[in-house]
Amino acid sequence: MDYLNLAKIYESVESTTLKTQKASIISKYLTLSRHNRDIKDIILLLQGRIYPEWSEKEIGIASKLMISSISKAYGVPKTLVEEKWIELGDIGFIAETLHKTKRQSTLFTTELTIRKVIDNLRKIADTDGFRSQQKKMNLITELLTSASPLEARYITRTILGELRIGVAEGIIRDAIAEAFFTNFYWKELLNQKINSAKKAEHLLDSIEDQTIAIDQNMILYLNKHFPEKFEKFKLHNKIIIRELEENTNLEKKDFSIALSSNKILASELKSRIIKKIEHAHNVTNDFSEITHIAVNEGLKGLDKLTLSIDHPIKVMLYQKAKDIDDAFERVGRPARLEYKYDGFRIQAHSKNRIIQLFTRRLDNVTSQFPDIISHIKEAIPEEKDYIIDMEVIAYDPKNQKFLPFQYISRRIKRKYDIDQISEKVPVRIRIFDAMLIGSKNLLDCSLKERIINIKNILKETEYVSYAESIETDSTEKAAEFYRQSLDIGNEGIMAKNLEAPYMPGSRVGFGVKIKPVMETLDLVITAAEHGEGKRSEWFATFELSCKDNISGELLTIGKIGTGIKEKSELGLSFKDLTDMITPLIINSSNRIVHIKPSIVLEIAYEEIQKSKKYSSGFALRFPRLIRLRPDRSSDEISTLHFIEDLFNNQRSR
Ligand code: AMP
Repeated sequence: MDYLNLAKIYESVESTTLKTQKASIISKYLTLSRHNRDIKDIILLLQGRIYPEWSEKEIGIASKLMISSISKAYGVPKTLVEEKWIELGDIGFIAETLHKTKRQSTLFTTELTIRKVIDNLRKIADTDGFRSQQKKMNLITELLTSASPLEARYITRTILGELRIGVAEGIIRDAIAEAFFTNFYWKELLNQKINSAKKAEHLLDSIEDQTIAIDQNMILYLNKHFPEKFEKFKLHNKIIIRELEENTNLEKKDFSIALSSNKILASELKSRIIKKIEHAHNVTNDFSEITHIAVNEGLKGLDKLTLSIDHPIKVMLYQKAKDIDDAFERVGRPARLEYKYDGFRIQAHSKNRIIQLFTRRLDNVTSQFPDIISHIKEAIPEEKDYIIDMEVIAYDPKNQKFLPFQYISRRIKRKYDIDQISEKVPVRIRIFDAMLIGSKNLLDCSLKERIINIKNILKETEYVSYAESIETDSTEKAAEFYRQSLDIGNEGIMAKNLEAPYMPGSRVGFGVKIKPVMETLDLVITAAEHGEGKRSEWFATFELSCKDNISGELLTIGKIGTGIKEKSELGLSFKDLTDMITPLIINSSNRIVHIKPSIVLEIAYEEIQKSKKYSSGFALRFPRLIRLRPDRSSDEISTLHFIEDLFNNQRSR
């Protein structure tokens, strides 16, 4: 399959800001590619990746090497590439522009296939050791010299992990739903009347080997407009004639596709399918696998997709409650209350006694925490496989106290002297949930049952125990427990519904957190400015952005320099941030650099104000750094919607 087709899809997706339009462009492309052997890779490339989200592997190319590769491929000096970078601010446009100015005769004219692109990109990811930089550069230049200008735009962006076409998870999910589960959109198109005949025809052409429930209205319609095609359609599919109304039991699995002219039923089908894809994604973090199953096994196949040990899943998230009464109102009485520890969320996966640790961002941190592995092995001596959810907190054994998050966060990115830092920053582990134990998938079990299952395998030790908890329906007892938790230095408490299942990736409100501080924001650094005077060696001011909940676009909301330390011993320092920012620089002009959005900071402030200065339309009064959030990705930052809510609430206070 030609890479050029994919590049054209990228281009049209990039040219619209409408989420529905993006999904629709992608879905049409997926429908056409459904039987292509590269379909799994196509899905990955559409997300700007070459491995699924759960995989640790990445292309890992720094901008410097990319500059050298473009310079070599197009025979231009590196300084020119750098100048263009400042001028255009986008690696893709640089490659495209330089390609266009290059005389075509020196470039290859072979067609670039998706297979070739993905193979080279994977080779880049796998290349290591002696002369690896040279080998990687050769692989990049090989692609760039075979590419057309448009292809070069997207190849370079993919390599740097910056596809910039505004395709968030929800868009891929909706595109898959639309492309492979035509049953719901079919209905919609009948009511729209626009292009309906064309879509109907496409539908009749594209479905084969399915069991289809169809109602009389639809039969009349198809017979009237496409008599021949409908005859063929009936030959290639098993047709069940059914009244398809709102009360039709959609859970009944005697059909895989429903064609009905009932509008309510259609939207019900649509949300059911989207939920199924979302669930499959939350447990597998792998749209390429989901697509493969969708094409080959349909909805029934998706139902079978479930947890797999070794593949991190999206952990369940919690909403914020205003106070204890609000918490009970949301989770019901009685509730399980637990200490909310100020540590780091880890999911531990154990398979045949080999334990792997993943963060909430799905990063594999096994090698950073050998002490956690041995503590867990000691506390769970059984052979059984498991996936458990827990908080790891830095601990001061001398004073027998938990230490704040900053201490444990130092260990997360540490790649060397692991034993030394494990001794310096020992940890305690507090387990609070389980997704799988033995061969039993616990996602649909109640919290009560999940806890019983953990208790069956866990022997508490000095290092590992359950999260401190009580079960109560009393506001007074809850208040007492809350005070106790704060007194010993925890962040607050959690209140959890005892009957609720484990919903990966969702902030559904089965559990809530109660903490006393004003809601902080998690914002990503998108630009930085060099300091002056004694800070002239560092970046000293940092532009922060939130996320548009619909398009996923990053929107600026302010700048910060307060709360960052002069010396690393005191906490996150200007030097630390400068070191983190330098490899992420996309372009620079004067004293300002724009960077790849990946450093997330938790920010406190006095007030949210309306502002024309920033693209979010808001600014923060007295913003100050609380801490670095290495556990959060730029996808998980505060949304504009959330900030608007906070703004409206503060006005009504
Ligand atoms: P927040 O990061 O403010 O959204 O709060 C949720 C986080 O609190 C979770 O992701 C955990 O890392 C952490 N946490 C601490 N103690 C608990 C607990 N007992 N149950 C669930 N999460 C906890």
